Amino acid sequence: MNQPQKTFESFEAAALYCPQCRSAMPVRKKLLLLLPNGELYDLLCSRCFSSIGIKKEEKPPPHIIPPGQQ
Ligand SMILES: [Zn+2]
Repeated sequence: MNQPQKTFESFEAAALYCPQCRSAMPVRKKLLLLLPNGELYDLLCSRCFSSIGIKKEEKPPPHIIPPGQQ
């Protein structure tokens, strides 16, 4: 089976200020916690891997199915 590659880490386009590197660095998104209504991500500096932020991505509950679609 060919499935699209799914990884728990991905690069974010946005850069955040890293106090360790003392400059804005690209961040690496790491899944931290699964919430009932979303996912919590740890934002790690792509150079020194220290945590420089947390991002919550809210997702709608999966039980809603659009009507009229098969
Ligand atoms: Zn850093």
